[in-house]
Amino acid sequence: MKTNDDFNLTQDSKNVLDSFANARVPDVEFVSFLHKPCFYAKVFGVKSVAAIHFVDNGFGGKKKVDCTDDPATCEYCQDHRPILKYNISIEDREDGRMKTLECGVQLFRDIEVIVTKYPNVQDYYIKLEKHGSGKETRYTAKKED
Ligand SMILES: [Zn+2]
Repeated sequence: MKTNDDFNLTQDSKNVLDSFANARVPDVEFVSFLHKPCFYAKVFGVKSVAAIHFVDNGFGGKKKVDCTDDPATCEYCQDHRPILKYNISIEDREDGRMKTLECGVQLFRDIEVIVTKYPNVQDYYIKLEKHGSGKETRYTAKKED
């Protein structure tokens, strides 16, 4: 399992991750934008961060491969940098249950800005939303008023 120190994060990011770590809570199931393009959640913390490559699967598509974390030994790092996937702990407003959401850097940065500004993560919901599809897909996070 990778730790936050394995990634080239800004100090602010590290502080946020550390504060998240203290608020870590058990959770039971995954939630996905595939099933819910828009939902509201309390965001409690980062469970883990993984580095992943998308490589040709030999059948005209792509497959996910875990990066070995070491550019010297990872054959895929020769071609391109891995992308980071964050597993974050959330409480889904719809049913009040703790879940895990996988998100990329783009959405994570949005969330990071919100929780840095409003550290009392128990007190508010964040609207997590998927826009568009395919290569045009974007993800946004907005604090509920
Ligand atoms: Zn790699």
